[in-house]
Amino acid sequence: MFKGVPTLANLNLRLLTGHAAKGREFSAALINGQVLVRRTKATATSLDLADANGSKIDVDVYSEQELLKRAKFRHTGFEVQKKIAAEKKLRTPPLLNLVFANRKLSFYDTSSGSTDCEQNAKLNQRRNYSIRPHREQEQRNAEDVLFDMFASEETGLISMGKFLAGLKTTGIRRNDPRVRELMDNLKKVHKLNNYETGSSAETQHLNRETFKAVVSPNIVLIAKAFRQQFVIPDFSSFVKDIEDIYIRCKGNTEGKLADYIPQLARYSPNFWGVSICTIDGQRFSIGDVEEPFTLQSCSKPLTYAIALEKLGPKVVHSFVGQEPSGRNFNELVLDQNKKPHNPMINAGAILTCSLMNALVKPDMTAAEIFDYTMSWFKRLSGGEYIGFNNAVFLSEREAADRNYALGFYMRENKCFPKRTNLKEVMDYYFQCCSMETNCEAMSVIAASLANGGICPTTEEKVFRPEVIRDVLSIMHSCGTYDYSGQFAFKVGLPAKSGVSGGMMLVVPNVMGIFVWSPPLDQLGNTVRGLQFCDELVNTFNFHRYDNLKHLSNKKDPRKHRYETKGLSIVNLLFSAASGDVTALRRHRLSGMDITLADYDGRTALHLAASEGHLECVKFLLEQCHVPHNPKDRWGNLPVDEAENFCHSDVVDFLKRWAENAKDAPQECITESVTTKTAADEELPCNTTSPLPTESEPRSSSPASSEAGSTASVDKTKPGL
Ligand code: GLU
Repeated sequence: MFKGVPTLANLNLRLLTGHAAKGREFSAALINGQVLVRRTKATATSLDLADANGSKIDVDVYSEQELLKRAKFRHTGFEVQKKIAAEKKLRTPPLLNLVFANRKLSFYDTSSGSTDCEQNAKLNQRRNYSIRPHREQEQRNAEDVLFDMFASEETGLISMGKFLAGLKTTGIRRNDPRVRELMDNLKKVHKLNNYETGSSAETQHLNRETFKAVVSPNIVLIAKAFRQQFVIPDFSSFVKDIEDIYIRCKGNTEGKLADYIPQLARYSPNFWGVSICTIDGQRFSIGDVEEPFTLQSCSKPLTYAIALEKLGPKVVHSFVGQEPSGRNFNELVLDQNKKPHNPMINAGAILTCSLMNALVKPDMTAAEIFDYTMSWFKRLSGGEYIGFNNAVFLSEREAADRNYALGFYMRENKCFPKRTNLKEVMDYYFQCCSMETNCEAMSVIAASLANGGICPTTEEKVFRPEVIRDVLSIMHSCGTYDYSGQFAFKVGLPAKSGVSGGMMLVVPNVMGIFVWSPPLDQLGNTVRGLQFCDELVNTFNFHRYDNLKHLSNKKDPRKHRYETKGLSIVNLLFSAASGDVTALRRHRLSGMDITLADYDGRTALHLAASEGHLECVKFLLEQCHVPHNPKDRWGNLPVDEAENFCHSDVVDFLKRWAENAKDAPQECITESVTTKTAADEELPCNTTSPLPTESEPRSSSPASSEAGSTASVDKTKPGL
């Protein structure tokens, strides 16, 4: 069993004493960061070992039998294993938000209030972390905080299975290119640990140092995920709503398969898949999302984007218009300038293909242009599946009378650029329609469009944002055949559908969605897809013209559940630290809980006191009735802060306040500032200050503040 495990010597450990074990051979196992030592018949249960530096280490000694048992239960003991199994629920990440909100608050400037006070030095020493280089500090903290969040208290180890499951709830997948180093490191560690029995690379348990080393290359993204700083902060709630919509649409069996070519007519009408990719690369997929289908008209905005990128809008739109045609997508019709109406209908897309052929890459052979186009699509999809369906291509070419007619009609009307080879252009158009893909890949393409042309998963800048703006504008007005006007009205989002049953939907600056279900309605749009879009914008305020501020009957998944609180703390403490009474008054009037504390238990009063802002201190106590004696994590009261930085006026005021507060009546304990109304601010305040000058007892008792010194007073009460 111990084959290949390191010996004491290998581990650079030396035996100091070993009770009954002297002189015996010991072997040791380094398992999950714990040194386990095998004894033979010895009865000793502990050993003193020294490491290479001579420092003493205590280790537990186990019999071979015990070790076997531990190995069986992954070296962490049966009881602990049971506990891990029972511990299904992850500790909730929101706390992290506050942690990091706090880290951002590490603006504590050692120079501010600098005096000769001896205490100052001590204080700053204790707070040393806050004046280290900011970024380095933040990252080190991120790794530690993550470890503490997921590690088992019993074993002191982190289960990577649990950690990766937690990461998945934020929308980040294990195969995301942005966490590749993390996954590679896990494999390396697993190998170094001789492929520990009972666990895989992704389910092994790591100690703190190993964990930190493993995650550090990708810590920026990982920390962002757990801080809930992605565009959809509460991704799992969002996903639940999407699942519900998906299930409702699944029951819709209306529509007919496209049958102008046999390959499309053969699809099962039951196929139904939805994939989502946000601009931060958060992924969710449900249903038949890996089933391949051809792009068809969903290729049109993509070739249009390449033409725009390469030629610019002026050149492109000297050949093709921007208006909805109001006619069938393949109708023999041009606008009054003898141009195809827009690049989303067949005539316009064929014209775009001619621009690629004659202007973008005039020197390329047909094969080269095909490869060139495919490479653009691939880059947009972050390298996900883009293939080619030759059978569909051949069928498209066979069943293309109308498309050829459009080509000739446009040639007759001199729509094409010079040197256009119509046969090549038509082939190229059919090839673009016959590119094969799936929902997963298309959601990344849609997300690249939502993200201003930058692929969220690879972070590659594929198109310029101006190009994407033009593409989305045309998709918005012309993307869903003859339903475009209604779609823009009802759904209010840029989209492009195709006869294979796909629909690409873009929520600009938020996410890309791809839905696929082959049955089409009479206008050629996927039936389930349309229902999905309807339900999506009825659930979330994604319609372009939804009012984000006042519309309350729809969800805004972009809103951080804890955002208000995190930002409140930052704003509040910053105002106090900078002595901005006006801002403090504004915070109070807006209903903010003025008693909020940051992760270190620092309140507005602490900061105002330490910076010597007497006016702020007065306002906080007299007007906001905050507790006068909250303790921060170092046990400091606001008055200590004022003393440390020699702000004698603040010290006097706080001492007098404390003195008077002693006599304050206890029945006022539960009343806090949060029960007041804005009007109270203006009313003569009879019940605020314990100071002699204020004559009446204050409403927030010192007793209450003592108890909850580092937290807000009563967060359940409504604001002002
Ligand atoms: N290959 C089809 C055509 O050109 C594409 C139609 C579509 O998806 O709208 O007719």
